[in-house]
Amino acid sequence: MIPYGRQEVTADDIDSVVKTLKSDFLTQGTQTILFERSIANYCNASYGTSTNSATSALHISCMALDLNKDDLVWTSPISFVASANCALYCGAEIDFVDIDSESYNINTLRLREKLELGKIKGRLPKILIAVHLAGQSCNMSEIHALSIEFGFKIIEDASHALGGLYKDTKIGSCKYSDITVLSFHPVKIITTGEGGMALTNSSELDNKLKLLRTHGIIKDTSKMTDNPHGSWYYEQVLLGYNYRMSDIQAALGLSQLARLDEYIEIRNKIANFYTEQLKDLPAIVPIVSKECRSSYHLYILRIKTGQTKNSHKEIFELLRNCGIGVNLHYIPIYRQPYYARYGYNPNDFPESEQYYKEAISIPIFPSLKAEELNFVVNTLKRIIN
Ligand SMILES: *Cc1c(COP(=O)(O)O)cnc(C)c1O
Repeated sequence: MIPYGRQEVTADDIDSVVKTLKSDFLTQGTQTILFERSIANYCNASYGTSTNSATSALHISCMALDLNKDDLVWTSPISFVASANCALYCGAEIDFVDIDSESYNINTLRLREKLELGKIKGRLPKILIAVHLAGQSCNMSEIHALSIEFGFKIIEDASHALGGLYKDTKIGSCKYSDITVLSFHPVKIITTGEGGMALTNSSELDNKLKLLRTHGIIKDTSKMTDNPHGSWYYEQVLLGYNYRMSDIQAALGLSQLARLDEYIEIRNKIANFYTEQLKDLPAIVPIVSKECRSSYHLYILRIKTGQTKNSHKEIFELLRNCGIGVNLHYIPIYRQPYYARYGYNPNDFPESEQYYKEAISIPIFPSLKAEELNFVVNTLKRIIN
């Protein structure tokens, strides 16, 4: 089966990990700090906090922004469940804003309408989580302007988008947000096995993130409540977690980071090839705004339902039977059984509903071979037409 995404681990990556295994620190030594600095530098952000996943980075980002019980968070329904779960971890309420028909990201017109209604009802979000689906940035300048007008904080869920550009600034720069979260899961742009990071330009937020990542424990004597009882002394000042990334993971990430630009280049080449080959099928190819360079974590086709011999579901099964590991990113989060208790109405999200009937992610990853690409294209032409 050709998967929709796959990691590439080179001999250099393995050497880096082995070197770390032979060193004094397996966790939170030199490699995690270097990895945080290197990613922050790459993205033009001031600070980075590495974590054991993007999910935990999202959780502590919500906490760092003081998300409390009964506060409200809004995000896109077309995302991985982690983008919404982080609000629930804090006892907050989650609601969704329908997507745009071209970018499949949060529709900023719908966002404005929902904010205006929320203002009248006296129920505005504390945080908006902007998900850069497939690697294309949301309309961040618009979202940022709305955050000032309506007074909410912004977390960018850039799990798909490391290496992408928005208006000539790197995704992760936090130019339009408080915090940007990255994922280093194996299917994402670069990997640490499991891993994530929260980037910010605020030293205050950075301190909170680092505190929450490690049990809420401080070792800096100048910040302590009591006089240190001795050299062993530390204080827990917040209820934090163990969300640390290990040095073993960071060594892998650092080694992978050296190939990031090359990966984005290859992903864009594959995407251009697909678009050229597939544009005449009864399917919609990805539409990337002139303001963006997508990292192409995903290549999402939309089947024009009613214009194809096979249904969306049949196309899926036929492709999988041919050894092409297509996938669907994502089932609208409000449709998940766990979310049924909150009583969302699918009719409130017509674009997301339509998207769910049509979307299909086809294989895209740096080590995809020319024969495999041709096989995917030829099989799609046969099955969709
Ligand atoms: C993968 C992903 C996450 C979660 O990442 P983990 O590192 O696996 O926790 C969150 N949001 C989006 C949009 C993702 O694709």
